[in-house]
Amino acid sequence: MKPQDFPKEIKPFILPSHDSDLMYRCLGCGHWFGINKLLYTCPDCGQVLLIYDNNFEQLKKTPADVWRKTFDYRKMLTIPAIEGIYLYHEFIGPVIPLDSIVYLGEGHTPVVEANLFLQKKAGLKFYFKNDGQNPSASFKDRGMASALSYINYLVQEGHISDVLAVCASTGDTSASAALYAAFLQPKVKSAVLLPHKKVTPQQLAQPLGSGASVFEIPGVFDDCMKVVEALSENYNVALLNSKNAWRILGQESYSYEIAQAFEYDMENRVVVVPIGNAGNITAVMSGFLKFYETGIITCLPKILGVQSEHANPVYRYYLEPDAAKRKFTPVVVKPSVAQAAMIGNPVSMPRVIHLVDLYNRMSGKQNVFFIEVTEQSIMDWELLANRNGHIACTHGGESLAGLVAARKQKIVEEKDIAVVDSTAHAIKFSGFQEKYFENNFEAEFEVSPDPALINAPFYVHPEGLAKVPSPGKPLDGEDFDRFVNETSRDIAKRLGLKKVFKA
Ligand SMILES: *Cc1c(COP(=O)(O)O)cnc(C)c1O
Ligand SMILES: [Zn+2]
Repeated sequence: MKPQDFPKEIKPFILPSHDSDLMYRCLGCGHWFGINKLLYTCPDCGQVLLIYDNNFEQLKKTPADVWRKTFDYRKMLTIPAIEGIYLYHEFIGPVIPLDSIVYLGEGHTPVVEANLFLQKKAGLKFYFKNDGQNPSASFKDRGMASALSYINYLVQEGHISDVLAVCASTGDTSASAALYAAFLQPKVKSAVLLPHKKVTPQQLAQPLGSGASVFEIPGVFDDCMKVVEALSENYNVALLNSKNAWRILGQESYSYEIAQAFEYDMENRVVVVPIGNAGNITAVMSGFLKFYETGIITCLPKILGVQSEHANPVYRYYLEPDAAKRKFTPVVVKPSVAQAAMIGNPVSMPRVIHLVDLYNRMSGKQNVFFIEVTEQSIMDWELLANRNGHIACTHGGESLAGLVAARKQKIVEEKDIAVVDSTAHAIKFSGFQEKYFENNFEAEFEVSPDPALINAPFYVHPEGLAKVPSPGKPLDGEDFDRFVNETSRDIAKRLGLKKVFKA
């Protein structure tokens, strides 16, 4: 639909205008900095930053009802710049002009109701939000669209040139960064650092295919992160980890989409997310808070942050009920099937601490909870979900295992309705499914397969069948007929099929 064809009351809002005043704010010393330079940490105290809009109060002047209608009507536009996360432009990156926005099909991922069998098993109604249906098959594309749109804007304005974008990654950040950078080549090039043998073959293939410079580093993600931080402090590179506050802004779209998917009714809703570097849960809280402050939603959903026992620093931090006594200590991670969340020292921890406190205060009660799950339960729930028509990755399994644990602990009730974040596509992590099915997990994973969930292919070669076809060497005549008949008979026997008698 063309902008001029929208109803009169919506027309003035249908296209975003950008009269905002974004600034970085340090969560340590509280100092403010302009956004015309790429900053990752506070130049004064070194703490992480978040981006705030000094004109946010302006947004409250538009009635909530008009905002809701505007977002709903915007779905009818055919302007690529607003078809992804920037449908919520005023809340995400209101300084970026539409013609600087990079849109590769990210955002607006499906919210799919779990089948009744799974809902019954979990003990409440729930949906998956399939963020694996983003262009690089994980939610990271939301933040990358935001970070690269901003970089594209700086390039177009002549503030920067010949950008080298770098990141450390557990696999999905680099896949996404390399994809968006490739779209902007040659103005933007990318280099990614991965922990050697700690990303899946699919995840390694992605930045290679996008033409990034790929470096494999000994150790785990936390080690890679230190190297990339040293690069960003000493050289002229653009850091694309979620330390970069532009990533957080883009990832807030996940919350806005959930609000919109449920017609802005957040009563009794529970939003479940896995936690690694904690950028995602930061963005999810921040997004809901912004919609709440502007009245677009009238209550805040409960948030469950889930971690594996093998990488649980955030969960441990919140074990101490007395906020004054809490002390953050990084953990040494153990191998985890939720490999993209295998992080012992999350960069966004100060943001989490700040936002959990604010979120609970705004909710008037504890409304953010942290759950720990076993590696075994992550695998079992992932595989069970996928046997019921879903496409959950191991982190989707982790979220679901967390929801089930929270239901058992009565943190979540039967009347609640949950949205479980499947942060990537199942096929990125199919190696873990393979280990499960072949029962060859290394002992440190602490996963032993449930025989009821195992599946394996049968190789069909009926006994006594001398000739079979092979590529380039087809069979014909009687040989071919015998092959077809005996092979189909063998399959029918294995499946227990009954023969149809034709009159
Ligand atoms: C990055 C990632 C996570 C963890 O998200 P954080 O923002 O680092 O907490 C979880 N699942 C997948 C698939 C990821 O790629
Ligand atoms: Zn500071």
